[in-house]
Amino acid sequence: MNQYNVHEIVSDLLMEHCYIIYSEHDALIIDPGDAYEDITMFLKQNNLKPLAVLLTHGHFDHCICCRKLQNDGLKIYIHELDEDKLHSDGNLANLFGINFDQLYADKRLNEGHIKIGDFDIEVIHTPGHSEGSVCYIIGNHFFSGDTFFENGVGRTDFYDGSMLKLRQSLRKLQQYLRKPYIFHYGH
Ligand SMILES: [Zn+2]
Ligand SMILES: [Zn+2]
Repeated sequence: MNQYNVHEIVSDLLMEHCYIIYSEHDALIIDPGDAYEDITMFLKQNNLKPLAVLLTHGHFDHCICCRKLQNDGLKIYIHELDEDKLHSDGNLANLFGINFDQLYADKRLNEGHIKIGDFDIEVIHTPGHSEGSVCYIIGNHFFSGDTFFENGVGRTDFYDGSMLKLRQSLRKLQQYLRKPYIFHYGH
């Protein structure tokens, strides 16, 4: 199994957690939040080439600087059922009175394996917090987004949330929770 390092940046916006997972030269950005400056500085200081942005879902606090990253040439990945949030009020920015730079994703994901550069990524569809929420497993790192946190689970009271679906997703995740992953939460 490949060993990767993970750098965490906490966004000012709703204390969202952005993660940069990297090997010797390449990096993936997971849920950049509003941490554009911190992300670009970290990449530069560590001489890392960012390959893509992976979103766990389309709520604004996780993806508000994506347009800037996309303008820099990065491809944006999100589950197909949350893609519309990147260019609609579905990202909830409007509800929170926040300006959002809309965009269209470059890749729409489904559950399964993908490869970006040398990174092998398992995408697990975990609807409940939002229809297109996913968790990512890369090496021994597990990124849960807002599906679950260290103590608790994500909200299901937004327009496409569902407690029933979240319960089903958490059941599906049981098999992973028993393994020795390092967990990285969305908040
Ligand atoms: Zn969310
Ligand atoms: Zn969130």
